[in-house]
Amino acid sequence: MMRFMLIGVVLIAGIIFWNYSDNFTKGKNLQSKPFISDSTKKQGAQMDDKIIKTDEEWKKELTPEQYRILREKGTERAFTGEYWDNHELGIYICAACGTELFESNTKFDSGCGWPSYFEPIDSSRIIYKEDKSFGMTRTEVMCAKCGGHLGHVFDDGPPPTGLRYCINSGAMKFIKKEK
Ligand code: FE
Repeated sequence: MMRFMLIGVVLIAGIIFWNYSDNFTKGKNLQSKPFISDSTKKQGAQMDDKIIKTDEEWKKELTPEQYRILREKGTERAFTGEYWDNHELGIYICAACGTELFESNTKFDSGCGWPSYFEPIDSSRIIYKEDKSFGMTRTEVMCAKCGGHLGHVFDDGPPPTGLRYCINSGAMKFIKKEK
């Protein structure tokens, strides 16, 4: 009888410890990506007049490369896109829906081979989503209006934000500023 009680106590202790360690790991994961606040995430999700189209409709409107990036979350190869080395003044808009996303005065040379910005024109135009693909935990960046995949944001950018929005050229169009 005593033996069964002992086994029971060990089992219960084991279950309690298992739950505790699970919570502990979850807490740590949350703390590892605090650089986009929850209120900022909600702003993007709240954007009204969203554009919703079928895959067939997007396929007709976008080039195959734009479709692969924006609708299938693809990535262009580093140093191959149209804008990674673009230093002209102007704005970058979503290639799918035309939303003004980034301004040239927030673009910087990150050396990573993709256009990089330290902040968007308006954070309400961006949706942030945790991305655990390829064995990494990253923060995906999408256009809030059409849901198109743009790239990722990292916390190794320059001042004033410390952020690096690493965006595919193929997800955007550049509108040069008229002088
Ligand atoms: Fe868009």
